[in-house]
Amino acid sequence: MASIADALIATVFAPVCLSCARVLDAPTRSPVCDTCWARIGRFAIPACDLGPRSTTLSHVHAIGPFEDILRDVVHGLKFQGRRTLAARLGPLLREAAGDLLDDADAVVPVPLHPWRQWRRTYNQADLLAATLGRPVWRVLRRWRATPPQTALDRHARQANVRHAFALGGWMPGAAHRARRRIEDRTVVLVDDVLTTGATLDACARVLLDAGARDVRAVTVARA
Ligand SMILES: [Zn+2]
Repeated sequence: MASIADALIATVFAPVCLSCARVLDAPTRSPVCDTCWARIGRFAIPACDLGPRSTTLSHVHAIGPFEDILRDVVHGLKFQGRRTLAARLGPLLREAAGDLLDDADAVVPVPLHPWRQWRRTYNQADLLAATLGRPVWRVLRRWRATPPQTALDRHARQANVRHAFALGGWMPGAAHRARRRIEDRTVVLVDDVLTTGATLDACARVLLDAGARDVRAVTVARA
């Protein structure tokens, strides 16, 4: 049911769905129309059963393939400042994660480099992690500003991110505190898109080296 604010905004500004470009009935609720949202492609089986197993992550789940509407949604969340999409993705992400969350101690968002986060003003992985109903542990930092992954092949991506992550935040003693927290814990990494898995793998490696018992991952989409 569209509110008066929605009716006014829809009439005056006529914002359109970021996927199908039709005028939105309820623009204050979401930048994607209900028709598109209902048509988001979903995996019928866990994403980790679709391809080669990761050597670091015990499970990797995703909502669906990185194409069509889900690609538009990720781009909206990541590059167009549409932060409200994270909350709307929450239920789909929880469903995709399934029992990975049940016995997990916490969720860990994949960090952005501080410079990139400062320019974007938020970390989309952090917003997504906050929707999962588990404690959010920001125990990783990205200390190397890696070039965008999209232009690189698989080996270049792995080399690109291999040493990009470290334990802890930017405050003194943060690495030590993060290590004490992670030891013998089960955590779920959260990111927007899984492409080659190099980024999640690099993060999982840091957590396992710090003594994590089990590291899993959930992402919005899988390329
Ligand atoms: Zn639409």
